[in-house]
Amino acid sequence: MSAPARFDVVPELHLLPAHARCPLCGSDRPRTEVALLQEDPRVAMSACPDCRGMSADRFPDDAFLRALYDPAHYASDLLQNARPTERCARHVASFVEAAADCDLRILDYGGSDGSLSQALAEALRRRGYRGRLEFTIVDFAPAKSHDEFHFIDVDAFYGLEDPFDVVLASAVLEHLTEFPRTVQKLLSLAGPGALFYARTPYEVPLQRRFPGYRVRWPRHVHDLGPAFWDRFLATFGVAGRLRRSAPSIVESDWRQKPVRTAIATALKAPGHLETAWLKPALGYSGNAWHWVGGWEVVLQLGVSDG
Ligand SMILES: [Zn+2]
Repeated sequence: MSAPARFDVVPELHLLPAHARCPLCGSDRPRTEVALLQEDPRVAMSACPDCRGMSADRFPDDAFLRALYDPAHYASDLLQNARPTERCARHVASFVEAAADCDLRILDYGGSDGSLSQALAEALRRRGYRGRLEFTIVDFAPAKSHDEFHFIDVDAFYGLEDPFDVVLASAVLEHLTEFPRTVQKLLSLAGPGALFYARTPYEVPLQRRFPGYRVRWPRHVHDLGPAFWDRFLATFGVAGRLRRSAPSIVESDWRQKPVRTAIATALKAPGHLETAWLKPALGYSGNAWHWVGGWEVVLQLGVSDG
């Protein structure tokens, strides 16, 4: 198909039929509409009563997605400048507990140009890692491999078999129209004790509260917050421990976008306060503050909780 003039509305011609089951977990229980994505033709986002994730009721077809993600004009949702990318990498590195001289295999799904992987390599070296680091970066338009950074496409990803020590899925799962297949493959590639880091948009509460705020449809077909991530291991039937479930870091930079960064920081602050202090102190489950725009989790797989 030729590139549509507008990418924010998917025409009827390029919309798939409504899902019969939850596109995240496969549940056939009725989903509840939570946000309107486009009016004509009408597409809404609905929440699943089982996995608690939110997904568009209808997905764009492959032809629309190919045009939308044409590298000629598409800019990834990954952190766009160095400072937040470095913050994110330092943050992930702080959860890696392997011995300083052991080798680490790291899978960066949807890693774009590898900037998060490169920042993670630097963060691990600064923390004293002397072992071999080996990064496999998956993207639909893979860059050229160099040094310890090996770039592959999505087809090659499904052919991977050897386990990884760290699996990154930063700002990518919200795009997946084959969510269960990809997530099952990612989980199958996480070796014993592997870290699994994911960061996803959680924008539906912002759209419901603030007129004018829009979920980034059709780039994002899912919206995944704490209710989804806190039961993710049970939903996908894997053993593991939830080491962190909290608002994601602010994506913008004070020097480049001061107003946006100030608003994002102010909105996320109560969420950080709640997850870091209130919930552990008062011992409740669920979350009261939802207006954070994004969520992140660190899971340690193959270990029992507690
Ligand atoms: Zn579901």
